[in-house]
Parts: sequence; C-alpha cells; structure tokens
Amino acid sequence: MKAALVCGAGGFIGSHLVKRLKREGFWVRGVDLKFPEFAETEADDFVIADLREPTNCRAIVDRRFDEVYQLAADMGGAGYVFTGIHDADIMHNSAMINLNILEACKNRNTKRVFYSSSACIYPQRNQLDPNAPVTREDSAYPADPDSDYGFEKLFSERLYLAYQRNYGMQVRVARYHNIFGPEGSWNDGREKAPAAMCRKVAETAAGGSIEMWGDGEQTRSFMYVDECLEATTRLTRSNFTGPVNIGSEEMVTINQLARMAMEIAGKDLTIEHIPGPLGVRGRNSHNDLYEKELGWRPSQKLIDGMRKTYPWIATQVEKARGRNFA
Ligand code: NAD
Repeated sequence: MKAALVCGAGGFIGSHLVKRLKREGFWVRGVDLKFPEFAETEADDFVIADLREPTNCRAIVDRRFDEVYQLAADMGGAGYVFTGIHDADIMHNSAMINLNILEACKNRNTKRVFYSSSACIYPQRNQLDPNAPVTREDSAYPADPDSDYGFEKLFSERLYLAYQRNYGMQVRVARYHNIFGPEGSWNDGREKAPAAMCRKVAETAAGGSIEMWGDGEQTRSFMYVDECLEATTRLTRSNFTGPVNIGSEEMVTINQLARMAMEIAGKDLTIEHIPGPLGVRGRNSHNDLYEKELGWRPSQKLIDGMRKTYPWIATQVEKARGRNFA
C-alpha cells in the first residue's frame, strides 16, 4: 500500500487532499497544529504537532513515504498577509517548517516532496495593469513580491530546489493562485475573497449593502479546490520539477466576484467601497507551462465553484446565528 504524508492536513487544501488520497487507496498520515475545523479527518493517522520543531519533524517522517505534500504555512487572505502586522511570524514560522521538513525528509531518504508556493512570489511591477498581469513562471526574477509572505515562499522554493540539486531528492514546486471551496476559512480573519464575498452576501438581507476593500476593480482568478488537487497530484507524480503555476485563467474583478455571490443567493445588494489591504492591482494564472509539461489544463468555470461554495458558507452563517441566539 502506498503511503503519503500531508503537512498542513488540518487546513483547507490539506484536509481536501487527505480525502482525495484516501479515495485513491493511500495510507495517509496528516500533521497539523489542529484538526480540520469543519469535517472529521479521513487520515489513517493524524498527528497534532508543531512543525517549527525539528524533533517533531523527525518523529513524523519515521517511515518511507511515497509522496510527501508540504502545505503547512502561516498564511491567510489580504487581511492577514498585506497589513504587515504578521510579517515576522509569517516569515519565521513558514521558513522553520520548510527547513525542518526538508531536513527530516533528507535524513529518511524520502524521494518525492511537493511544496506549495504561491502566486504572491511574482513581482509587483508586472501586476500594475488589472487587464494584463504577467505571471509567466520565468518572470519571477528580479524578485519583488508585494509581501513578506511572497518573499518567504520564494526563499523556500529555492530551498526545495537546492535540496533536489544537492541531495538527489525529487521535489515538485507549484505556485498556487487563489484556491477556494467549501471547508475553508470564512470568518476568522484569514479568509480569502471568494469566502469573504459569500459570507457578506449570506449575512446581509436583500436590499442591504456589503462592504468591500478598495474600488473592487482589482482582478484575480480563483481555482476550485478539486481542480487544484488534480493539478497537484498530477505534478507530484510527473517528472517535471517546476516551479509551475496552478490556478485558473478566468480573470474577474472583485466586483464581478461579489455580483456572482449575489446572483447565486438571489439577492440584489449595493457595494460600499471602503479602504483596506488590497495586494496587487491585477493577477491571473498563466498555464502554458503546466499544459506543455503535463498535458492538462483546468477547465472548471468560477461560477460552478461558487455554486458549490456559497451554500456551504450560507450554512455556516446560519449555524453561527443559531449559536448567537442560543
Ligand atoms: P491553511 O491555512 O488552511 O492551511 C495551512 C495549515 O498549516 C493550517 O491548518 C495550519 O494550522 C498549519 N500550520 C501552520 N503552522 C504550522 C506549524 N507550525 N506546524 C504544523 N502545522 C502548521 O491554508 P491553505 O489555503 O490550505 O493553503 C495550503 C498551502 O498552500 C499553504 O502553504 C499556502 O501558503 C499555499 N497557498 C494557498 C493558496 C490558497 O489560495 N489557498 C494560494 C497560494 C498558496
């Protein structure tokens, strides 16, 4: 039986990945600071541990794993990453995790390790035009990410590639672009735009208004979590190292995203634009390299993913209301 280790298995993408690997027949160990918040984990073994501690990492990588997925990071949406107030923690915590996991994998002769980097590594100068952002993989240097979160990801990408070069490890590096879906952060300050828009729309009565940071004309693309897992497992099992983008190429403004949530909810709300942390003006995934190397391209429409995400968030909003009235 094949075995996989998922670091960050209590988080959004990690908990979905565990389910997928179980469906594929793997024996799965998950590790995180916490259990998944919204559903029971399906991991065969779930270890609560702090991966900033080298001894914990050595204890977790105590056997042969066919696939290791390193998704653990100190991260969140714009409200967490772009205010600057978490920068030291973000850089310190995530770098420690990556340093320790790689060393533990090297010591156990682990062959194949996937690392989730981010579109946040791309230089600010190429993302000023909301209609024509550049995120080709080879545009990453000279480096100038707009956050320290992005700088840590760039450092760790290089760390993984160096372990491959120097220690014969097989690493696979993906740059995720805004992954979304049910069972992710929706109201804890770490939520991203799709969850935030769904929550605001679900919380607001028809005819009311929702707040949005900035003018809403900044552009992004959003990939549904199932497609992200398809791209992630394909890359991990391929002969291509990366770094390579994993994201959707369907670019929308945040205003359009909010309108989508309203359309699904059947509510016509006004948008009140307020100052807030924003990130770059435009960003979209560029998938030519992935298709060239792996012969696959995502195809799911944003509206279809939003149709699966909105009801889940609306249910969370209802449950929270119930708790407040109880
Ligand atoms: P998430 O925050 O839901 O999951 C990360 C998990 O890491 C959390 O459960 C957290 O508890 C765990 N973690 C943090 N510090 C830890 C520690 N010291 N020891 C053990 N576990 C620890 O995030 P996600 O959305 O599932 O993202 C997974 C990965 O993908 C992250 O590395 C993230 O940077 C990257 N990424 C995600 C997106 C996205 O849109 N979701 C975009 C770009 C990159």
